[in-house]
Amino acid sequence: MSARKLSPLDVYKLLPKTNCKSCGEPTCMAFAMKAIKREVTIDKCPPLLTKEYESPYKQLRRMLRPAVWEVVIGVGDKAVKVGGKLVMYRHELTYVNPTVIAIDVMDEMSEHELLSRVKTVERFSYSYIGQDLKLDMIAIRSTLNDPDKFKGAVKSVAEAAKMPLVLCSLSHEVLKAGLEAIPESRPLLYAATKDNWKEVGELALKYNCPLTIFAPNDVGLLRSLVKALLDYGVEDLLLDPGTFVDDGLADTLNNFTMIRRAACKKGDELLGYPLVGTPIVAWLDKGVAPDEELKWKEAYAAAMLITRFCDLLIMHSLDGWALLPNVILRQNIYTDPRKPTAVKPGLREIGSPDESSPVMFTTNFALTYFTVTSDIEAGRVDCYLIVVDTEGLAVRPAVAGRRLTADKVADALKASGVEGLVKHRTLIIPGAAARLSGEIEELSGWKVLVGPMDSSEIPRFLKEKWPQP
Ligand code: SF4
Repeated sequence: MSARKLSPLDVYKLLPKTNCKSCGEPTCMAFAMKAIKREVTIDKCPPLLTKEYESPYKQLRRMLRPAVWEVVIGVGDKAVKVGGKLVMYRHELTYVNPTVIAIDVMDEMSEHELLSRVKTVERFSYSYIGQDLKLDMIAIRSTLNDPDKFKGAVKSVAEAAKMPLVLCSLSHEVLKAGLEAIPESRPLLYAATKDNWKEVGELALKYNCPLTIFAPNDVGLLRSLVKALLDYGVEDLLLDPGTFVDDGLADTLNNFTMIRRAACKKGDELLGYPLVGTPIVAWLDKGVAPDEELKWKEAYAAAMLITRFCDLLIMHSLDGWALLPNVILRQNIYTDPRKPTAVKPGLREIGSPDESSPVMFTTNFALTYFTVTSDIEAGRVDCYLIVVDTEGLAVRPAVAGRRLTADKVADALKASGVEGLVKHRTLIIPGAAARLSGEIEELSGWKVLVGPMDSSEIPRFLKEKWPQP
């Protein structure tokens, strides 16, 4: 049944109908109405998660399935969610479940190499507009095709890693050995093909694991394998239509786009599963092309796949210059375009300001705020910074759209209480708000000093214009 044609009654019929209120709603019917509008998920009804309601829960999950099926990989604290998309484009509705990035390790590595690479992956962190951008998973690749070696590598990595795992091999015997090392961990299996789908499907069922289907450049085959595995009882599937980083890049992007379009615009449930991209294939040319070139290829393929609906990437390069642009791109794509990222307004002390320190203001647009504060900190300036509520807009658009006015600045200055912290009455304002200077002086009674247009100039500006102690 298509989610668009559902009525609250269809959902209500499958709920426990006890009106127990454990979900926070007054009645089961109120819950059903919210479930239809995607305002709650069925997991918020605790009785539904019990053995007694296993069958209605499964029916509801399929009935309310988003255009792209949501899959959980891993268990407990180590779990990540992929897919779950309701729409094709982010301007239609906020995207959920950002593209997961898995970095590979290989079973041919020594124990020391394995563990140090796992540590490097887990340590990767970049602070960007108030968020820590991180990597998400470890993909263990069987390069030796030896079940025992793979089992050993999986065991070592699982003991050391706090992240969920992908087990990569086209041999069901190798995958089976890996699963025996971590039978309860629900790793992602990579991959089922036209040749091994039955054996690997059996493993997915036995160990309750999500499974990737791999059918390079053959969307028809991918679709048939989905059907076969669903009939076999495997529900949590991911699709890999193949990643080609050279001449096949256009085909790769086309396949990803066609699959997501089929799922979101045409309601094709057999293609409505999370997409896996493997920019790591750039490394098939190792030794043929210089490593730097392979890292470039891998990085740009990853960037393109993130923008073309990819839900999970498997990568090799750990260089900051290759990963950083992609984790930032991902962060930007998965931010709600209707809600500017904002920080809390109010007074901030940067460094150790005293009664002679400069007083400045900026807006509460997160990118502006974090850029200004990091420029001030880099210049080792002690100052007071007032963050004015501009509804998350940067200085220039906030002035143009009257979200930043002299009244607002004067009110924020007063509310900050900075008057009691400094003995001077001079406020430094951003260069882009220069046209408000006269009015701010009038309304606040403070002298206004127009600062630089770019916050990186603040330290130099203060050196020249602010009296040094
Ligand atoms: S928790 Fe479930 S059973 Fe209880 S009121 Fe909510 S929907 Fe109904």
